[in-house]
Amino acid sequence: MSQLRAAAGRGLRRSGGRAAPPAGQSRKGASSRGAPAPAPPPAQHLFSDPAEIEDLRGNLLAWYDKCKRDLPWRTLAAAETDADRRAYAVWVSEIMLQQTQVATVIDYYNRWMQKWPTLQALAQASLEVSVAGTGCSPCPRGSSSNTMPCLLEQEVNELWAGLGYYSRGKRLQEAARKVVSELAGQMPRTAEDLQKLLPGVGRYTAGAIASISYGQATGVVDGNVIRVLCRLRCIGADSSSPAVVNRLWDMANALVDRSRPGDFNQALMELGATVCVPKAPLCGECPVKQHCRARSRKLFGKPTPVPDVEDCGKCVGGCPLCPPAVEPWDSSLGVTNFPRKAAKKQLRAVRTATCVLERRGCRGAPEYLIVQRPSSGLLAGLWEFPSLTLAQDLQEEKQREALADHLHAWTGQPVAARSLRLIGEVIHIFSHIHQTYVVYSLPLDRDVTLDPALSPSRWVTEEEFHASAVSTAMKKVLR
Ligand code: SF4
Repeated sequence: MSQLRAAAGRGLRRSGGRAAPPAGQSRKGASSRGAPAPAPPPAQHLFSDPAEIEDLRGNLLAWYDKCKRDLPWRTLAAAETDADRRAYAVWVSEIMLQQTQVATVIDYYNRWMQKWPTLQALAQASLEVSVAGTGCSPCPRGSSSNTMPCLLEQEVNELWAGLGYYSRGKRLQEAARKVVSELAGQMPRTAEDLQKLLPGVGRYTAGAIASISYGQATGVVDGNVIRVLCRLRCIGADSSSPAVVNRLWDMANALVDRSRPGDFNQALMELGATVCVPKAPLCGECPVKQHCRARSRKLFGKPTPVPDVEDCGKCVGGCPLCPPAVEPWDSSLGVTNFPRKAAKKQLRAVRTATCVLERRGCRGAPEYLIVQRPSSGLLAGLWEFPSLTLAQDLQEEKQREALADHLHAWTGQPVAARSLRLIGEVIHIFSHIHQTYVVYSLPLDRDVTLDPALSPSRWVTEEEFHASAVSTAMKKVLR
């Protein structure tokens, strides 16, 4: 099975959440700007019959009205009469849903909206709120044991902890500040302006906010929409390629219902998340099955209506939207022949030694040292156990020595490599990194003075650790 076929089998993404914007497209728009306009694709891959478009819109919206999931952002957007508050409610949900399952997002969304119900409230929230003397329980061990106030918080990061892709929360807040300080508190009113004026808002998010909040008749394309459209129109060329992505945007803009654009877009995404799922789509329950050429092809051996030749009739000449000639339709895959995507690049392997430094806290409970990561880059600003990136293939003895040297800086005194106890390895997959944490522990029977010249650090109980802005990977380490 080739790379393309393998990618088709895996599906584009987990179903259920808002699928990621297409690869090859930055959050600020399609990547092929400036490329020569491609020739129009064969009609086989288009929606060109106005009656069919009307029919599809009606069927999809009727299904959505009946079957849509009850989700907090939908309830908020439907009940909110103020356009800015409505746009904010949609915006937060769209940012959280990127790459994340709906079921995971609900709790985070509710907590976020409770804490920062408006743009103004979010704009005022500080990424770092020093609470020294303002609610921080005084540490009975005295200031020598902590270099930072014991409850120095990162409100946004903490609330986001566990959702992944942590820069999203930070960018959301930066954009909220911009709206308040530079746009007089008013959200831009069109998809174009949203994308142009707000940091972190790309073409997809702008379209979603504008269509759902303001009723602008503009389409959206995310992973769910890609899957549905590619199946509806038998598009088997690499769905992450700029040529296909641009065609899909054109198609989404042509299909979107003019009177209910927000509902239509949500319906299309809902269909991809719940019915037209990656691996075992429920075609029998699909409200648009009569428009689906992949299903026709599966049932009747070819899409309908179709020239009485293989695929769209231009395959021999190289149709830009058909599966490549070397990867023709595979009848064992049925509709899941579509979409297809070039195989992902191999993840970069990174090994990191991390040490759970433990002391007995003043109330007898164990406490752990956590340190803050730099404010940019991977997991920016989050907290972690003292960690050190290792050279690949470093012998265990050498990595233990390197970690002991590293810990010397944190504890202010020599650490014997042999005192580090190897606990095991924790694997965590980031979008582009295969991360292995080699976990050690080191119980301390004496206090250490943390050097204020180093990165921020603090001692936390297990409960405080879980409430802190720590990554999912670090939570795995402590488990
Ligand atoms: Fe997807 Fe099946 Fe519906 Fe076609 S008929 S859109 S493949 S669920």
